[in-house]
Amino acid sequence: MRPHSFFNRVGRTIGLPLLAIALLTAGCKSTGNSSGGTMSPVASPPTREMQAAMTPDSALAELKAGNARFVAGQPVRRDAPADVKASASGQYPFAVVLSCLDSRQPIEIVLDQGIGDIFSARVAGNVLNDDILGSMEFACKVSGAKLIAVIGHSNCGAIKGAVDDVQLGNLTSLLTKIKPAVDAVPADVSPRTSKNYAFVDQAAEANVRLVMQQIRERSPILREMLDQHQIGLAGGMYDLSTGQVRFLEK
Ligand SMILES: [Zn+2]
Repeated sequence: MRPHSFFNRVGRTIGLPLLAIALLTAGCKSTGNSSGGTMSPVASPPTREMQAAMTPDSALAELKAGNARFVAGQPVRRDAPADVKASASGQYPFAVVLSCLDSRQPIEIVLDQGIGDIFSARVAGNVLNDDILGSMEFACKVSGAKLIAVIGHSNCGAIKGAVDDVQLGNLTSLLTKIKPAVDAVPADVSPRTSKNYAFVDQAAEANVRLVMQQIRERSPILREMLDQHQIGLAGGMYDLSTGQVRFLEK
């Protein structure tokens, strides 16, 4: 079998309906040895049919399952040279993920996604700007992605910078975008300093929610797709100490 990574090992986690879609849409390739031993599936980039079979819910389920595989130290097997070849003529990613620049949360790795699986936008503090918003519109409206995910993380230096009111070149205006989230943390959380990790992490989560709200408010194209349930919007927080993404309740 050569199912896509959505469905590889994930079938156990996210249920048979999705696995059934996989069997209908995925090609097969034996990767086992000739003696008939257990064959371990190898993931491959999504095809147009695989992407079309995804829904906003199944896309989110795959991000959750991928992170669970990462945390368990059981990423799917991949064949990078084969994936490069298979994806060269087109891409059909199932999600677009906005996450922080931080080197400790390389998003494809921590979500166990491979070549062609997700669009990835990374910027310090996972803030939104017009170019990233335009990229999300491309990902969803033009390229068929089913989910927008905004993933912040614990102990984020950009959030700390906003808390500390750091002034540094072009970073200053970036941090300004985060300040409303810092202010949104309830007044009883104190001390309100970058040394208070609980405060910093609450501000980071507020920032994720703020960016999700901005995506909806600032893009009529994405808002319409969300209202028509053509795409989903999810937020999450990555824990640097455990490798786990906690997806936010709506
Ligand atoms: Zn960060």
